[in-house]
Amino acid sequence: MRIAVASGKGGTGKTTVAVNLSAFSGLPLYDCDVEEPNARVFVKGEEKSKPVFRPVPELGEGCDLCGVCKDVCQYNAVVVLKDTVVFFPEICHSCGACVYLCPKNAIREVNREVGKVIDVYKGKKKVLTYGLLNIGEVSPVPVIKAMKKEMERDAVIDCPPGVSCPMVESVRDADFVILVAEPTPFSFHDMKIAAEVVKELGKPFGVVINKYGLPYDVEGKCKELGYEVVGRIPFSREIAEMYSKGMLLENVRDVFEEIYDRIREVA
Ligand code: SF4
Ligand code: SF4
Repeated sequence: MRIAVASGKGGTGKTTVAVNLSAFSGLPLYDCDVEEPNARVFVKGEEKSKPVFRPVPELGEGCDLCGVCKDVCQYNAVVVLKDTVVFFPEICHSCGACVYLCPKNAIREVNREVGKVIDVYKGKKKVLTYGLLNIGEVSPVPVIKAMKKEMERDAVIDCPPGVSCPMVESVRDADFVILVAEPTPFSFHDMKIAAEVVKELGKPFGVVINKYGLPYDVEGKCKELGYEVVGRIPFSREIAEMYSKGMLLENVRDVFEEIYDRIREVA
């Protein structure tokens, strides 16, 4: 079973939930938040990395400056100048349209390294896989797709924040989605948007409330909307201190075990 952990808003405790759920359920962990993969702070070991490439266009021979490539590019990644064509690989989305539609076959594709997939081992056991997007690249999706190609059938996926393409790509193959929310109006608002996306994708989901016990009644609001709350991580200084030291939350292990049991029932 694949369990994706998302939130909408960043900084709500998504990685805390993903790391501890993985540790206490025994499911392997994949950190798809490739712009800021911080599960590696909690899960350390020997690292082995593989580069990730994606195809980008490059001008070859025979161009007559007709401008078709510029017209078909939906991402403004092509400029036709007086005497040449310039491609901007950083903003190219590798759709291949310009290559396919160039009437002179004057464009070829070359591989561009956009990031890495890194496996972390303790002894011979793989304990974490995370992606790392190169600085300056605009789209994390190719790195996430590379991670998913080798992903095991059972996994916990730490998703990127937000509700755009990287988050959608990360939850697309999940059997269940955990949405992490803090008891604040801002977090609840963004979690609701994430819930709409997850519903659109047809995925079962449940809410985990982090810092449970703060006054904002996020649980009541979830009930009003028909969202099931599958776990509550208490607001406590001890948990904050353990988190700040990069420790697993052994003191609330039962919370994560109950979350996992409930997900298995639902999914
Ligand atoms: S579509 Fe081909 S021939 Fe036309 S400007 Fe672009 S590269 Fe040149
Ligand atoms: S591959 Fe697609 S996105 Fe990239 S430059 Fe060509 S048309 Fe634009």
